[in-house]
Amino acid sequence: MPYSSDVISRARQRLENENTEKKSRYAAHLEQAYREVPQLRQLDSQMKQNVALAVQCALAGDSQKIAQAQKENEALQAQWDSLVAEHFPKDFLKEPLCPLCGGLGYVGKQMCDCFTELCRQEQLVELQSLACGHARFADFRLDYYSDRIDPQIGVSPRMVMEQNFLMAKRFAQRLSGNLLLVGGTGLGKTFLSACVATKAAMGGHSVTYETASHLFGNLEKNRFNPDEKSQQIVSRYENCDLLIVDDLGTELPGNFVTAALYNLLNDRILAGKPMMISTNLTVDEIRVRYSPQIASRLQGNFQGLTFLGEDIRVLKNRGVLV
Ligand SMILES: [Zn+2]
Repeated sequence: MPYSSDVISRARQRLENENTEKKSRYAAHLEQAYREVPQLRQLDSQMKQNVALAVQCALAGDSQKIAQAQKENEALQAQWDSLVAEHFPKDFLKEPLCPLCGGLGYVGKQMCDCFTELCRQEQLVELQSLACGHARFADFRLDYYSDRIDPQIGVSPRMVMEQNFLMAKRFAQRLSGNLLLVGGTGLGKTFLSACVATKAAMGGHSVTYETASHLFGNLEKNRFNPDEKSQQIVSRYENCDLLIVDDLGTELPGNFVTAALYNLLNDRILAGKPMMISTNLTVDEIRVRYSPQIASRLQGNFQGLTFLGEDIRVLKNRGVLV
């Protein structure tokens, strides 16, 4: 789950803040406990002495005395636990930091669950800063699409969109394969992409959501004038769990774009990392604008969803939709 360095650094900052807050709350609770039940302070000091003694015995190789000190400490700990339970609410003196990683966020090289959760939350915050960041499947409105059967294709736009909606939802849950959203402007492609992004991020996956013009701009910067930031961004395009490219075809065309798109598609397909691309272009137009190889990759490796209907923004402006 390669999250962006921004997500990780914000999550790390939160982890540090939370650790500091938990430690100071624990210190205040401990102080209160010692004040109200002075015997706890004595028990604590006895336990510390016992630990020091056990260390000395260990250095001297006296295993019998170590065992004795351990046994005494267990008895002292039991007294401590029962006094705490008697006088204070549950968890009042609970160990403040994560029991798995001790507040470090990592167990060895592995990200701890506590830190993964913070990254997941920060990934959602990052997505919410996008135009459609709050998009959820529950907000997708099928009634925006006409239920009148189109005589040319024998189905209504709503029937088609219902299928698209189900496919996108399944994709967001399973996060395998690739989706290509094809259709005119204002038919809900960006909104449905954002629903997928939110769902995947809520499931703990790293998601990169980028417009095509930004994506190619960053790839070009990294190719011809790289710096640490551009390298990080491009590494995200290559390694994030889900890459969403919005509005393919709105970027300036050129040989660099074609080569970069082909490489990106190939690398992610080979690595089995899902992508979702939305575009106003048909596959024929893609073949002409980019290359037959790219069109063939998209046809062979992407599930195509065609968006039908009338421009939702226009309908809203006309007062047809609320
Ligand atoms: Zn942890």
